[in-house]
Amino acid sequence: MSTIYEIDNTYVASTYKRFPVCIVSGKGSEVFDENGKRYIDLGSGIAVTSFGIADEAWQQAVIEQIGKVQHTSNLYYTEPCAKLAKLLCEKSGMKKVFFGNSGAEANEGAIKAARKYAAEKKGPEYSTIVTLENSFHGRTLTTLAATGQDAFHKLFQPLTPGFVHTPANDLPKLIETVHAHKTAAVMVELVQGEGGVRALDQDFVDGIAKLCADEDIVFVVDEVQTGNGRSGQMYAYMNYGVMPDVVSTAKGLAGGLPIGAVLLGEKTKDVFSYGDHGSTFGGNPVSCAAAISVVSRIDEKLLGEVREKSAYLFEELAKIEGVKSVSGLGLMIGLDTEKPAGDVVGKCLENGVLCLTAHGKVRLLPALNIPMELLKEAVAVIKEACK
Ligand SMILES: *Cc1c(COP(=O)(O)O)cnc(C)c1O
Repeated sequence: MSTIYEIDNTYVASTYKRFPVCIVSGKGSEVFDENGKRYIDLGSGIAVTSFGIADEAWQQAVIEQIGKVQHTSNLYYTEPCAKLAKLLCEKSGMKKVFFGNSGAEANEGAIKAARKYAAEKKGPEYSTIVTLENSFHGRTLTTLAATGQDAFHKLFQPLTPGFVHTPANDLPKLIETVHAHKTAAVMVELVQGEGGVRALDQDFVDGIAKLCADEDIVFVVDEVQTGNGRSGQMYAYMNYGVMPDVVSTAKGLAGGLPIGAVLLGEKTKDVFSYGDHGSTFGGNPVSCAAAISVVSRIDEKLLGEVREKSAYLFEELAKIEGVKSVSGLGLMIGLDTEKPAGDVVGKCLENGVLCLTAHGKVRLLPALNIPMELLKEAVAVIKEACK
């Protein structure tokens, strides 16, 4: 197997620093490497495999659709695309959906929707998108511009103009920033994921929602990571009791196949017309069939279990010696550890638990259906790794 490492290192662009592990199979929240070593998966492919690896209902939905038709282009109707859009609207309270293939593409669509809405309502000079410092919105040039972390920007100038950043949880400063520009939209992650698993304050989110409603500014919530049950609600905005105008989502939506979605609310539902936007693979029937299998199972029972497991993890992890604080929401958890996060994650890997990092923290994003016994076993390994 060492040759796989060599081939990859030689031929795959060096954008990822991989762990020296080749994953060959898995079942649920357990995965196995090339030597048959077992790991408990607390990363879910970065919040993607919502029901774990090789989930049977998911597999069946995918196989069934592949047996019928794998792609048609958006010139024709397909059943999975239509049914998924309906299901998403019913579960979110949003009104229409545009489908793409990734988180960044969903955010590009959300930004285009916001800009067009403002251009038509107030004039094309109302183009500024206000986002937060320490945010993460993707890797395309426009979503990098939206991302409020200079480290990502340096060698890729010029980025798309029209983005300004303001600190999280400082409402007066955000209002000042919005008023200092001709603002189309405010765009936030309700729990900053890559930025260190930090949930925004309720008052700050209430303030943004009110400002956007009062001044007809588009309120965009990036739920690429927080969406689809991860937060303990179908979407994270439901924890805050606010209603965005546009929601982007992706990672966990299709349980492991590429998909992105822009959900358009009452205010923005008709903003796109023929030719305004598109994506060859968008609404792919296999990805949509997979997503229907995922979304239709995110019900009150499952969400209750997510919240229970979350409460268990918050409580147990906070007790661990060497853990300074626990942050996040639902099954999106950050640990501020005394030891460097990379060392803790390395030790966990050695002892059979896959964890992630985010902005100097250990980050946990287990599958929504991870069994309690595996969580217990994993907590013991994390405890040992923090020593
Ligand atoms: C991962 C992520 C993105 C980017 O998604 P890709 O599928 O990698 O393009 C955007 N926003 C947030 C909040 C994310 O966590």
